[in-house]
Amino acid sequence: MSKRDYYEVLGLSKGASKDEIKKAYRKLSKQYHPDINKEPDADAKFKEIAEAYEVLSDDQKKAQYDQFGHTDPNQGFGGGDFGGFGGFEDIFDTFFGGGGRRRRDPNAPRQGADLQYTMSLAFEEAVFGKETTIEIPREEECNTCDGSGAKPGTKPETCSHCNGAGQLNVEQNTPFGRIVNRRVCHYCSGTGKQIKDKCSTCGGTGKVKKRKKINVKIPAGVDDGQQLRVTGQGEPGINGGPAGDLYVVFHVRPHEFFEREDDDIYCEMPLTFAQAVLGDEIEVPTLHGKVKLKIPAGTQTGTKFRLRGKGVPNVRGYGQGDQHIQVRVITPTKLSPKQKELIREFSSLSGVDAPDEQHDSFFAKVKRAIKGE
Ligand SMILES: [Zn+2]
Ligand SMILES: [Zn+2]
Repeated sequence: MSKRDYYEVLGLSKGASKDEIKKAYRKLSKQYHPDINKEPDADAKFKEIAEAYEVLSDDQKKAQYDQFGHTDPNQGFGGGDFGGFGGFEDIFDTFFGGGGRRRRDPNAPRQGADLQYTMSLAFEEAVFGKETTIEIPREEECNTCDGSGAKPGTKPETCSHCNGAGQLNVEQNTPFGRIVNRRVCHYCSGTGKQIKDKCSTCGGTGKVKKRKKINVKIPAGVDDGQQLRVTGQGEPGINGGPAGDLYVVFHVRPHEFFEREDDDIYCEMPLTFAQAVLGDEIEVPTLHGKVKLKIPAGTQTGTKFRLRGKGVPNVRGYGQGDQHIQVRVITPTKLSPKQKELIREFSSLSGVDAPDEQHDSFFAKVKRAIKGE
């Protein structure tokens, strides 16, 4: 049986970024976790995914894989060609510049996995913050076996294939000679242990899925795409390590009227022709209630006004943004005969030759352009 391409296993194309690899792994490992997925091939898929991630998440292994691909399956697992550990250490160390490589002890305490939760917020909720309770599916230590995965009264045994190291050496012929690769031991999935009598509650994984309620306080001023770390609310640690963290990622829904850029709010206000010409005091909606805004006589369309402090509170507590208002003069389209008559009268009185400075210079420029001066 030939091995599938590691990128293909994770549903990625070659050249995928570290982030993409991590994301794909998280998604697939959850999907095929033997705890959740009861399809007969889920376990095999889960192992395949774990192996692909083990290689692609490791810079050195990834570089090697990208260059040489899979090792010859005939030389690898289960072969008695090379005995135990140690024999290839020298070649291995020489190849990688010696000594720099960490051997992962499967029994060492490790931090639990981080979890991510996407929370959708209304525009105002992001501006003012809120306190809420979320329910997240999470793995917790199985109470029946205290996390060992073994049936009560029995103990996990050291994996006979990797002697408890959780990794196997795989030899490979390359254009540069023979090199040795370390791989996660697929007999024990890298745990270094084998469980003969599996705990019936957790199926030997030592973990059970539970839904946990967590209270989350969203600070005022969070923005779309920002995340909040809730320390220690990720998955439980392994071998007594600390728990992972929970990352709450905010997705802020757009507002019908307001737009937001950092801590500032932008909006557009319509002005009637008369308001623009004669000036007025208008009411502007803000996130903090209605505010009166003075429109000076002769306001042009596109003029911008600013209401200080009417924006979004800074999420780190550095003051408050402003609200920016751009006015748009609406040209009337439905006029009564009387209105039309008045406009014509107005036009004949003011027109192009009207004694208005701004008017004058602008129209003069247009006239010159038409004549080609
Ligand atoms: Zn093993
Ligand atoms: Zn259990």
